[in-house]
Amino acid sequence: MKPFEYASPGTVDEALSLLGETFDEGAILAGGTDLLTELKDGTFSPSRLVDVKRVSGLDLIEEGADGILRIGATARIATIAEHPSVLARYGALAQAARETASPQIRNMATVGGSLCQRPRCWYYRSEHLCLRKGGANCLAVEGENRFHAILGGSPCYIVHPSDLATALVAFDASVRILGPGGERPVPILPASPDAKADPAKQFYVLPKDDPYRENTLQANEIVTGVRLPKPAPGVKSAFVKVRERGAFDFSLAAAAVAADVQGGKVAWIRCSLGAVAPAPWRAHEAEAAMLGKPITLETAAAAAEAALAPAKPMSQNRYKIHLAKVVLRRAIVAVA
Ligand SMILES: Cc1cc2nc3c(=O)[nH]c(=O)nc-3n(C[C@H](O)[C@H](O)[C@H](O)COP(=O)(O)OP(=O)(O)OC[C@H]3O[C@@H](n4cnc5c(N)ncnc54)[C@H](O)[C@@H]3O)c2cc1C
Repeated sequence: MKPFEYASPGTVDEALSLLGETFDEGAILAGGTDLLTELKDGTFSPSRLVDVKRVSGLDLIEEGADGILRIGATARIATIAEHPSVLARYGALAQAARETASPQIRNMATVGGSLCQRPRCWYYRSEHLCLRKGGANCLAVEGENRFHAILGGSPCYIVHPSDLATALVAFDASVRILGPGGERPVPILPASPDAKADPAKQFYVLPKDDPYRENTLQANEIVTGVRLPKPAPGVKSAFVKVRERGAFDFSLAAAAVAADVQGGKVAWIRCSLGAVAPAPWRAHEAEAAMLGKPITLETAAAAAEAALAPAKPMSQNRYKIHLAKVVLRRAIVAVA
């Protein structure tokens, strides 16, 4: 392992001053459940680790008088899973937190780290020079691709591993980013699927816009937390995930749905898919299919069909299309 400096600042400004102009100069260390693996494997070798666990106030979870829920970047996933405000108003987020990894990892891992964790693609995590690490091609295209993307892939077919991110999309969350120029809160995803990629309007980006980074965070910036708007009183939500084994494991496909059903018909809905694309994926087609309709097994199945219609399987992952339909249908039905 390459030698590195270790810094443990007490304030967020001090943390910022310790970061560099490139990611190789300084990396944020939170729970370390992802970053330390990267260091040990040699996938990433920064010169300095800036440990933010001691930064005061960065782990707070607060419901403001404005109804907005603010979750600090170093809030642990285990804390989010049990927080009364999360349980009361953002059920899908609590469920996603409960279903993330193992109890030991949830006790260390933070929401900031979950959103910024790097891809689990085996080519990215090995000695291979894949596209994301500066190589010429995505090696999954001609190689082993059973866990890779079925939506939004080209030219790199990673899937985003964060279950929390999938749930946060369903609540129109924004990510608070602090840099030398001050704070910029950005929506987790752009409002429209056709929007031109814009760092001011989205946290996550697809490989077509940036094949090397999963989000718009710059090397000299830090995620300070997430904000969730207050849902309308009738909004209910659900998170459904399937994985290869019953013990802790990453999602093969996941779905989060939040919906407001008025007079038996869907008046507002957000549908999000995880582990199917290089970023959490908002299923706009499913939302359009459900609006104004009652939630039934048939309408939910039709919405799931619509959401996966644009999917393009690789040589080994056609099964994911079916799984994604199943989790989305189940999440829509669970909301009802
Ligand atoms: C065995 C295992 C099973 C897992 N299963 C799941 C699962 O089922 N679902 C799931 O969603 N995840 C799963 N994970 C991933 C886990 O959720 C992440 O490792 C964890 O959330 C990362 O959080 P952390 O605080 O430990 O981040 P770290 O490891 O400290 O950091 C991760 C990355 O985020 C960056 N970072 C951290 N905090 C900030 C910040 N505030 N601002 C800017 N950058 C930051 C770091 O620089 C680093 O690049 C699993 C992990 C393991 C090891």
